[in-house]
This record gives sequence, structure tokens and C-alpha cells, in this order.
Amino acid sequence: MALLVKKPKGTADVVPSKSYMWHTVEKIVSETAQQFGFREIRIPTFEETGLFVRSVGETTDVVQKEMYTVSAAGDSKFTLRPEGTAGVMRAMLENGVMNEGFPQKVYYILSCFRHENVQAGRLREFHQFGCEMVGSASPRADAEVIALAKSVLDRVGLKNIELNINSIGCPECREKYRQALRDYFEPHRDELCRTCQDRLEKNPMRILDCKSAEDQAIAKDAPMILDYLCDDCTEHFEKLKQYLTQMNIAFSVNPRIVRGLDYYTRTVFEFITTEIGAQGTVCGGGRYDGLIEQLGGAKTPALGFGMGLERLLLVMQKQGCDFMEDKKCDLYIATMGENAAAKALSMTAAAREEGFFVEYDLVERGLKPQMKYADKIGARFVIVLGDNEIDSGAAKLKNMATGEQTDISLGDAFVEQFSQAMVNNMFSGLEDELGGLV
Ligand code: ATP
Ligand code: MG
Repeated sequence: MALLVKKPKGTADVVPSKSYMWHTVEKIVSETAQQFGFREIRIPTFEETGLFVRSVGETTDVVQKEMYTVSAAGDSKFTLRPEGTAGVMRAMLENGVMNEGFPQKVYYILSCFRHENVQAGRLREFHQFGCEMVGSASPRADAEVIALAKSVLDRVGLKNIELNINSIGCPECREKYRQALRDYFEPHRDELCRTCQDRLEKNPMRILDCKSAEDQAIAKDAPMILDYLCDDCTEHFEKLKQYLTQMNIAFSVNPRIVRGLDYYTRTVFEFITTEIGAQGTVCGGGRYDGLIEQLGGAKTPALGFGMGLERLLLVMQKQGCDFMEDKKCDLYIATMGENAAAKALSMTAAAREEGFFVEYDLVERGLKPQMKYADKIGARFVIVLGDNEIDSGAAKLKNMATGEQTDISLGDAFVEQFSQAMVNNMFSGLEDELGGLV
């Protein structure tokens, strides 16, 4: 078979046998966020292009090279969201969430789109778990947001993941720093890549985030932002470090982190692993005290992070972390003949009504392939129904793990007897487990 259409480069399918991995991560991230008092927000997949140009920043890689911008006839330009924060802030402003008291804490799980060079851990459609906290300028908020990311990483079972933090100051201290960077890079202007030559005037800090090896080498001895912080920014950073220490969260100060988006101020941070090659940043975030005002809201401090779920899953698999298995079938009803099949329909409905996972033959196959199927889906119990069983109103309930068979009524008592068999089975499983311990 020659497939006529294939998936776009840099996208991924999740096949049914693998979706349990996503369920595991989605469950852990949302439960953890809720425990920290964050509530879910959902936003559209596309926004007006201007939103990202304004917030992410004109001189960033994301806006310059990576956006998927679309337009339908007669419409203005829209862009598939390259990240979550801008759209979430837009939605919180537009729906008056900012007027409901501070802090406002939201989380989301969403797809992002960036036209990038595809590599392991670098896709064109990827997924982020993100959190945003609005309305606190306190370094406590920074520590809390970092603690939430750390909790998620701990709970999915990741090891050897490092937290790097930095402060990139406020607009005041940054202006002095920008000038220092311009003075440093100016003599190297011709050696910089085209994009960075452009950045030299507009936004020299972006040069520090350039992926080109030559530019990185030039930037090695560039002045460091921490030497240019004003007193308030220094105090904020010192307090954050103190809080993290009190929370027992290990970190390193890495003055090289500037982050890829323009809206950050003061605290920036990344959780990094060296185990999945070059794309090792599993989570990145920081404070963006100017963004809300930039989008037309009142001046409001805020911060958050985005965690790349594909990268998280790559590390989890590499490290052999535990995943939540899919639910298994409780009962498969195998049938021979039309009467039995009709009976199976009502029994299935009754047992499902009580919450059991039940399947029966949908392909009109013989008994042997039905039993093979029951085995394949890992059914706990099987009932075989034929004319004899229908006539007598009773059948055998077979425990597939032990081979043990018990009688079960096909009448009104069916669901209750089946429930009892499930309970007994659970207890004998527990006894086996405990037996090993005592
Ligand atoms: P990088 O430096 O790796 O390009 P970034 O700074 O562009 O990352 P952010 O915009 O901060 O990334 O996004 C937050 C997180 O989303 C990243 O830490 C990463 O885990 C994930 N991420 C970003 N871009 C991609 C991508 N193209 N494919 C998969 N995951 C991604
Ligand atoms: Mg990037």
C-alpha cells in the first residue's frame, strides 16, 4: 500500500497503544497545578498576528522565523500560537479575570506551532504545560512558580534535572547592560551572523540566545547582566535564592540564560537535562512584569513557565519512569449464535451501567478468535454464551488469570454476582501481594 498523504514534517501522531503516556503526564501536571491553587484556562489555537509581535517581540527567533501565519479570504492575519503566555494574558484581560482579585493563577495544556529545524525534541507542533501567576511582584511568587515546576518534574519521576536561574533585570538596569553589550559586540560586528548584526542595534541581548556556534563563541566573554542589576532587582534575586534554599530546591545561577522571548523581566529560569541531546531544556519560564501593560492592561506584575511535554516524555522514557497503564477490560462476553448475541447486548449494557469495562463480539466471529481477542485485550473475566446457557439461565464465569470457573446467573442477579467476583478477585490479588510481604 502506498500512502497518498503523510503527516507534515515536525508533527507527531499518538497511536492508541501509546496514549497512556500522555494521559499519565496530563493527569500529573493538572493535579499538581490544582494542588497549588492554579485553575485551568483554555484559549483559541490562533490569535491575531499582532498579539505575538507585540508580546514575544519583533527581534526574537519566534517572530522573525518561526510563526505560522495564515489568512482566510478577506480576513486579517492570524498566527497559530507559538507559545501560551501571550494568548492567556489576552484572554485574562478580555474576560476581566484580572479584576477578580490577586493573585490569579492559571494553567493550561496546549499545542504550539513553530517553523523550526526539526530534530529530536524539536518539533513544529509540540505541546506545553504552562502556568501563569498574575498580580504578585514578590519573590515569593517566583519561588512558588519554580516549586510547582519542580513538583511536576519530581512526580513524573525525573532524575538528574538541573534548575538554572538568572535575573535579567528591569528596563532601567537593562538599558545600561544593553549599551555594555553593544560596546562589546561592535568590534565583532562582521563576524556575527546576519540576524545578530541586526540585533546589535535593536536588541543586543538576543545575541546571547543565538544558536549559531560562531556567535556563541564570540559571546563567551560578553559582560554579564548580574553585574548591571539595580538595587531593587538585586534584592529580588537574593530573596528568591533564599526562598529556594528554604524550600530545599537546588539551583545554579547561570548568568547566560536570557530566554528566547522578549517579555521577560527580572527572574528567568530553566530546568535542563543532559540526557536527550542538545534539546535539553524541559521547562523554561520567568517574570514578565511589563507584558500586561504592553497588551493594554493596567501595569501588573506576572510570571510563569512553559514545559515541553514531548521533551518531558523523552526523558521519562529514557529514565524508565513509571506510567499509568490504560484500564483493562473487566469482562468479555463471547457468544455463539443470534440468541446469545442478543443476550450479550443487554448484559453488557447492565454491567457498563455499574461502571464495568465490558466488551463483546462485534465482528461475528467464531468462538476461537473471540477467545483469542479476549486474551489480547487482557480481559479479566470471560463468559461464554451459547443456546445451552440461554436455556438454563446460567453460565460459567472464567477468571482468565487463574483459570478458575464459577457459576453466574444470566438473570437479574447477574451484575451483582459479577461485582462480587470482581471484589473477590481484587482481594485475592492483594493477598498475593501482601503474602509476599509477611
Ligand atoms: P529552545 O531554546 O529549546 O528553542 P525556547 O526557549 O524556544 O526553547 P520556550 O519558548 O521557552 O522555548 O518554550 C518552553 C518549552 O517548550 C521549552 O523549554 C521546551 O521544552 C519546549 N519547546 C520549545 N520549542 C519546542 C519545539 N520546537 N519542540 C518541542 N518542544 C519545544
Ligand atoms: Mg526556540
